[in-house]
Amino acid sequence: MTTTALPLPDPVTLSDAQQRGANCVWCAAPLTNTAAHDLGPRPLTVFGSSVRWFPRCCPTCRRERV
Ligand SMILES: [Zn+2]
Repeated sequence: MTTTALPLPDPVTLSDAQQRGANCVWCAAPLTNTAAHDLGPRPLTVFGSSVRWFPRCCPTCRRERV
């Protein structure tokens, strides 16, 4: 399974930092650009508008899930 196909938590349950990709989507650890893994753009509907979400995760969570 590739990381872009991994099921993610519902974005509405995540913090602003997690939604921005500043923190891991699963464990909320702060991410640096070198350590973060992009999980691929996800289409998201927010208040009726279609937007793209760019979730990221830490290396530990990625290892556990791939
Ligand atoms: Zn994590």
